[in-house]
Amino acid sequence: MTFESLGLHASIIKALTDAGYTQPTSVQEQAIPAAIAGKDLLVSSQTGSGKTAAFMLPALHKFASLPPAPVGAKTPNQETQAARARGDRPRFRPAQPKMLVLTPTRELALQVTTATDKYCAHMRRLKAVSILGGMPYPKQMQLLSRNPEILVATPGRLIDHMDSGKIDFSQLEILVLDEADRMLDMGFIDDIEKIVGATPATRQTMLFSATLDGVVGNMAKRITNNPQVIQIAGSATKHENISQRVHFVDDLSHKNRILDHLLRDVTMDQAVVFTATKRDADTIADRLNIAGFAAAALHGDMHQGARNRTLDSLRRGQVRVLVATDVAARGIDVPGITHVFNYDLPKFPEDYVHRIGRTGRAGRNGVAISLVNHAEGMHVKRIERFTKQPIPVDVIEGFEPKKSAVPARSNRKPGGWRPGDNRGGARPTGAGGGRNFSGKPAGAGSRPDGGGYKGARSGDSGARRSYGDR
Ligand code: AMP
Repeated sequence: MTFESLGLHASIIKALTDAGYTQPTSVQEQAIPAAIAGKDLLVSSQTGSGKTAAFMLPALHKFASLPPAPVGAKTPNQETQAARARGDRPRFRPAQPKMLVLTPTRELALQVTTATDKYCAHMRRLKAVSILGGMPYPKQMQLLSRNPEILVATPGRLIDHMDSGKIDFSQLEILVLDEADRMLDMGFIDDIEKIVGATPATRQTMLFSATLDGVVGNMAKRITNNPQVIQIAGSATKHENISQRVHFVDDLSHKNRILDHLLRDVTMDQAVVFTATKRDADTIADRLNIAGFAAAALHGDMHQGARNRTLDSLRRGQVRVLVATDVAARGIDVPGITHVFNYDLPKFPEDYVHRIGRTGRAGRNGVAISLVNHAEGMHVKRIERFTKQPIPVDVIEGFEPKKSAVPARSNRKPGGWRPGDNRGGARPTGAGGGRNFSGKPAGAGSRPDGGGYKGARSGDSGARRSYGDR
């Protein structure tokens, strides 16, 4: 399958060739023709699967095929300038976007906007802008005054602009909800309903989500019209290109020593270390910097400018170790990230999947390592049940945990693990290797109770968080 055979406009094909894309990913293969045909879509796919292009390319195709704006038509900004030149009081005109992409976080919104700029590099007169919490209002007003065709926004800030009459959705043709499950997790349901309610019923709606069950499914039914359902169960969803493992730690000092050791792995290019709290992200980034790593923290308490600068440094390779919280690191797409570390386990198994998806991007392999206290056994089991993949337990010589709830069984040389060693969870056996969390050989499928670690329940059954990047 080629992009040409999907029937995309020549200017888009040119941009894809420039980007080095040779063939569509499975989500693109299925979503693009359906979207070009004008269908509503419900797509279950993970970040990393190429979903941004799956919704953006057919939209750009549609805009590329539209007749040009009438000669002499002015943008709101030009009208304002013309009115001022005439000495008139400028008449305010709200922006009238043709496409709206809603994302849970600022980082994802910026990424979608950057990808859009790349895909429409050869199309004239098309503007995509991000409307995000944390960005100064005057700057956003200026962006809106250019009447962009495409808005990529986080829900909270978008509502602020809608309430103050800066945006009019009456001309909207395409609505995309990107990572809809995450937006709902973050408590954006009312905002989403309000935004959807302000758009024309004739719009085309595309909803992308890791899962289409439960609350997401219910909302999807309400906001789509006879949608085509696309379920992508490929390796990108299962993260088969990411070798996962668990290291048991006795205490914080043991955890820190193992982390420092693993960060010196010669196969590591860049890493993301996930912490449970913003404070820990700062503390660990400071500690790693003192230890000689080029580390930086990324979390929601930082101003957007500082977050952007940190992400830029990560992209440029100046930051090698990013220490981040879940929300801040959501959607980060930096190909150089070879390793993800769970310094703290995530609260929910879904977050584990999102976290490890920061590595192994765009067809590469990656490594995801969780540093787990002995009392967090049940937590790992829940992740294994959710991902339907066993996570092997590894022990590094010289860094063995004192407690032997999981028998020391590896005499693998430190740093000897390689991305891709453990495709599909089946890591190589041999001298001491190849155990999953339950003490069974990795890849053995079901994990009967008994041989496994009997850790305490980690008390994570609390209510879902309600926070966001307003
Ligand atoms: P996404 O799932 O949209 O975040 O995309 C994940 C990564 O895959 C991004 O770095 C994209 O630039 C890249 N990508 C998307 N589609 C393709 C493709 N057809 N060929 C190669 N890379 C792609």
